[in-house]
Amino acid sequence: MRLALTLFLALPLAFGQTIGEALPPWTPGFLDIHHINTGKGDSALLIFPDGTSMLVDAGETLRPPPRITPPKPDDSRPPGEWIARYASHMLRAIPAEHLDYALLTHFHGDHMGEIDERTPASATGRYKLTGITQAGDRVPFRLLLDRGWPNYHCPAPSTSEMMANYRDFIMARMELSGMRVERFQPGRRDQIVLRREPAKYPNFEIRNLAANGAIWTGEGSETRGHFPDLAGLAKSDWPSENMCSIAFRLRYGRFDYFNGGDIIGGPNEGSPEWHDVETPVARVTGPVDVHVLNHDGFHDSANAFFVQTLRPRVHIMSVYSPTHPGQRVLSRLFSTRLYPGPRDVFATNIMEVTRVVLGDSLSRLKSDQGHILVRVDPGGDTYCVIILDDSTESFKVKAVHGPYESR
Ligand SMILES: [Zn+2]
Repeated sequence: MRLALTLFLALPLAFGQTIGEALPPWTPGFLDIHHINTGKGDSALLIFPDGTSMLVDAGETLRPPPRITPPKPDDSRPPGEWIARYASHMLRAIPAEHLDYALLTHFHGDHMGEIDERTPASATGRYKLTGITQAGDRVPFRLLLDRGWPNYHCPAPSTSEMMANYRDFIMARMELSGMRVERFQPGRRDQIVLRREPAKYPNFEIRNLAANGAIWTGEGSETRGHFPDLAGLAKSDWPSENMCSIAFRLRYGRFDYFNGGDIIGGPNEGSPEWHDVETPVARVTGPVDVHVLNHDGFHDSANAFFVQTLRPRVHIMSVYSPTHPGQRVLSRLFSTRLYPGPRDVFATNIMEVTRVVLGDSLSRLKSDQGHILVRVDPGGDTYCVIILDDSTESFKVKAVHGPYESR
């Protein structure tokens, strides 16, 4: 009896999902990190161990095919609506009808939603519905975090229609649903916190690592400016939107997860060395268990130092373009010269044209189609990677990988 009980207790709890059946709901103590595939950009939904929830990005690029993956599950709804419905479904387990946090890593359409003349207006007519504004229209955000609030002047004042619409959304939602907005503060670990039962999970932490070139030093909540004074720079050398992305590290016991938006680590030849943001971010991040590729695995991401320093057991690529991932990016992920030991690589949506270019190297992926859920067991010692069917709204389990041991 004692042996049976010991065996039972030793089994990772996340091992309860059955292939072909709907995903069992989140339960208290688990940490769920969903990488949602709409085919049109990035989006992740996190449910923390006490039920606090956070949406990271909700993209809707209007790039036409064949330069983009087909819509998932289909084109009957726009991506922001699919994301909101996905979130609503998962939030039922808490239960909750709002998201505690929405975090926008940076201001690009594939992370926040583009607009054009076809973009519909919200019911109040005060803003248009695309990506993050559409998701927030359906599932209210309590606190929105971005890199620019309140003036959006870094590194230069924003003038696009997309940003004007985003600001209209903020003003309207503050008034209509009491949404709050804050600028993401690098260095801090008390800006994104458990909202429900913090005392129950003292080993949970989100460390704000970087934004706008301010990078945590590793000491207290101190940061260091990575970008030089813009006054002395040619405008062509100014930091790009991607370089200004928010990066954070989530820790739950021994489990560590990294998400750095679109920061880059392999700038164009001849560019200033400081255009590489991955290297200083990697220094303060250290090894992690799960890593989401920066800039969707585009050729300027995942430099050797970054891969070597984070040395993840699991790499997740949110991909939706023929250029995702870059050929050499993929070889760095698999390189045992960069770091020893096994590693599994998952992608949300590999295009046929990418298969033609990358050929056999893609056969090493553990999954190349579907939502990717990282489900971490209570306490953080073990976790699984679960692939969910993205062809319908069934949330059916396609495959379960792991259990993996956190470091
Ligand atoms: Zn970007």
